Amino acid sequence: MTAPFKQHLIDPEICIRCYTCEMTCPLEAIEHDDNNVVVNAEICNYCMDCIPVCPTGSIDEWRVVKTPYSLEDQFGWDELPDQQDIGPDEAATGLEALDDAVAVLLADAHKGAGGKARAPASAAKPTINLYNLAKPVQARVQGNYRLTAEGSDADVRHLILDFQGKPMPVLEGQSVGIIAPGTDADGNPHLPRLYSVSSPRDGERPGFNNVSLTVKREPHGVCSNYVCDLKKGDTVQVTGPFGATFLIPNDPEARILMICTGTGSAPMRAFTMRRQRTVGKKSGGMVMFFGARTPDSLPYFGPLAKVPSSLLQKHLVFSRVPGQQKEYVQDRMRVEEDIVADMLQDPLTHIYICGLKEMEDGVELAFSNIAESIGQQWIALRDAMREEGRYHVETY
Ligand code: FAD
Repeated sequence: MTAPFKQHLIDPEICIRCYTCEMTCPLEAIEHDDNNVVVNAEICNYCMDCIPVCPTGSIDEWRVVKTPYSLEDQFGWDELPDQQDIGPDEAATGLEALDDAVAVLLADAHKGAGGKARAPASAAKPTINLYNLAKPVQARVQGNYRLTAEGSDADVRHLILDFQGKPMPVLEGQSVGIIAPGTDADGNPHLPRLYSVSSPRDGERPGFNNVSLTVKREPHGVCSNYVCDLKKGDTVQVTGPFGATFLIPNDPEARILMICTGTGSAPMRAFTMRRQRTVGKKSGGMVMFFGARTPDSLPYFGPLAKVPSSLLQKHLVFSRVPGQQKEYVQDRMRVEEDIVADMLQDPLTHIYICGLKEMEDGVELAFSNIAESIGQQWIALRDAMREEGRYHVETY
C-alpha cells in the first residue's frame, strides 16, 4: 500500500500558460506539452519557488493521493480532479507533518500581493485554451499604431488582430499568447508570450471579430520586437484565450478600482470600453490610478482624456516630468485616500492591479495605510476580498 502524500498540481482552467513557473523551478520539475503545464511529482520537493511568481495562483493546487497523477494524466486534463476519498486512517499517515511544513512554506510564498485568485461572482464564464501550441489560430494584423510619442522612452503599440471568421471568444481581462517565428538558443520553437487583450468582448470594433493588444517593445526581447514590427496584412500565430479570474464583474453596480502602470493599462482599457458600451452612465463607477514616466509615454493618453469623468475618474500620475516632483500611483492613492477608503469599505468594490511587478509593494503599502486610517487591517481585508473574487493582481 502506498502512503498518501500531497501532490502539487496546476489548475489547467486558471493557468495562463506564461511558463514562468517552468522557468523558475530550480529542479526542472515543471514541464509542458501543447496543452498544459504540469508538475512532476517524482521531482517536486515543495521548495515553493514557483508559488510567488505565478501571476494567477493556478500553481497553488494540492491533492492528497495514494498514487500520484502521472504527467500523462495531467497533460490530458481540462480541469482539476476533485480530491479523492482516500480513507481516514490512511489519510492520517504522516500527512499532518507534511501539511504543516507545506503550510509554512506556502504562507511565506503568499506574503506578497499574489495568491490564489477567484473570478468575480457575476463574471461571465470565460473560454480557455481554445488554441494551443499544437493548434494555434492564425490572425491577420489589421493595424499597428504607436501609442507613445516618437522619441519617448517607451515604444508601446496598439495592435489590432483580425481572426477572419475563426472564433476568438475573449473576455476583458483575458490574455492571448503570440508565437514569434523561429527558434530559441536551444533550437526549440519560441514559447508564446502573453499579451492582455485591450478590447472588449464584442471586438475592437463592435461586432467585428477583432481583438486589440497593447505591446511594449523590450530591448532585445524576442516577441515584443516581432509584434511591434508587424505590418498591416502580416499573419501571426495566436494561442489562448487564457485567464479565468482577472475578469470584470457583469454586475453594472459593481465599483471598479483600477491601478496600473504602462501596458498594465490594457485590461483597464477593455474594462472601460465594456462599461462604456453596455451600461454607460448607469455604471457603479470606475476609478483609475495610472502611472507612467511622462504623458508622452502613457499609452492611450489622448483617448483616455475623452472618457467622461462620470464613467471613469482618472488619476494620471507621472514620475519623470522635468521640473515636477516624482509621483507614483501609490502617492496619488494617498492623496485621494477618501475615495480609496470609501471604496475599500464598499462590498460592491472590485480592485484590479496590473503592470510591472515592482509596483506591488508600494501599492500594498498605500492600501495598508489607507485601510489603517479607517480602522481596518489591510491583509485581512485583502484576503477576504480575494476570497470573494473582488481583488485581482496581474503583474509581470
Ligand atoms: P524576451 O525575449 O522573453 O526577453 C525577456 C526580457 O529579457 C526582456 O525584458 C528583454 O528586454 C530582456 N532581454 C532579452 N535578451 C536580452 C539581451 N540580450 N540583453 C539584455 N536584455 C535582454 N507585455 C506587454 O507588452 N503587454 C501586455 O499586455 C502584457 N501582458 C502580459 C500578461 C501576463 C499575464 C504576463 C505574464 C506577461 C504580459 N506581458 C505583456 C509581458 C510579455 O508576455 C513578454 O514577457 C514581454 O513582451 C517580453 O517578451 P519578449 O519575448 O520581447 O522578451
